[in-house]
Amino acid sequence: MVEKAKFIWFDGKLIPWDQAQVHVLTHTLHYGLGVFEGIRAYFCQDGRTAIFRLSDHIRRLFDSAHVMMIEMPFSRDELEAACCESLRANGQKEAYIRPLVFLGEGVMGLNPAGSPVQVAIISWVWGAYLGDEGLARGIRVKTSSFIRHHVNIMMTKTKTVGNYVNSIMAKREAVSAGYDEALLLDTAGYVCEASGENIFIVKDGVLKTPPLTSILPGLTRDCVITLAQDLGLTVKEDRFSRDELYLADEAFFTGTAAEVTPIREVDLRVIGPGHPGPVTKKIQEAYFAVVKGQDARYQRWLTYL
Ligand SMILES: *Cc1c(COP(=O)(O)O)cnc(C)c1O
Repeated sequence: MVEKAKFIWFDGKLIPWDQAQVHVLTHTLHYGLGVFEGIRAYFCQDGRTAIFRLSDHIRRLFDSAHVMMIEMPFSRDELEAACCESLRANGQKEAYIRPLVFLGEGVMGLNPAGSPVQVAIISWVWGAYLGDEGLARGIRVKTSSFIRHHVNIMMTKTKTVGNYVNSIMAKREAVSAGYDEALLLDTAGYVCEASGENIFIVKDGVLKTPPLTSILPGLTRDCVITLAQDLGLTVKEDRFSRDELYLADEAFFTGTAAEVTPIREVDLRVIGPGHPGPVTKKIQEAYFAVVKGQDARYQRWLTYL
């Protein structure tokens, strides 16, 4: 269960957590047209709190809304300020922040014209998404029987609410079979992404990640590409098959929620030595140093409260 905080920012103001309610005629609740983001704020060594890549997340929220033709009732600046406000009001030094844009009560049927657009920003304390042990030792992954969206069925570059029914089916299938996370292939059969994470493999010191064609353009993915290149590593954005993954020396998932989570096994094949490898560890270390404000080179990505 989500650990309650004091306030939720809802349609322009902070209201008590329990009062952030919607009507059952909320359009998004029926048909799934809404967009959201997932952002993290970290407690830094100097005692301050920094939100990681806040403006990039809010830009992607607006991009998602643009693609889905949802007219945003607030400006980017207003929503960035609202994220900071939510953390401050709740006294959160570290938190996960969930902006959600949805169509409210008023219209039914599949033409949402005239539906009011509502925005909520919820922040709560959320630990390692795939578990502390997963972060430290790596997780077990199963290729899903469900495939990721075709680019003309759902808009894959958006965090659209309805897109995640596919993710939920894959996640449930994997977890009920005793795995930690699902890996989804794309419609051509190549490795795509996990239910809510991007994927990287490492072979002979070179990193590879699927191109942006049909995946969610993860900001953690983007950050990891930059960090790897700055560490002198080569990163290729290229599609690869599941057997190439089975044969990788190392593999890991990236995402705001999952951070940098090593993969130790896929479909009962042990990846490399079966524990996080040197490149994964280096990237993970570099990532946590950046988000916690310990690396002067990447201060541009941090918004301090
Ligand atoms: C959010 C998400 C990611 C990761 O994106 P980040 O910006 O790194 O958090 C990857 N895949 C899917 C399907 C997602 O929803």
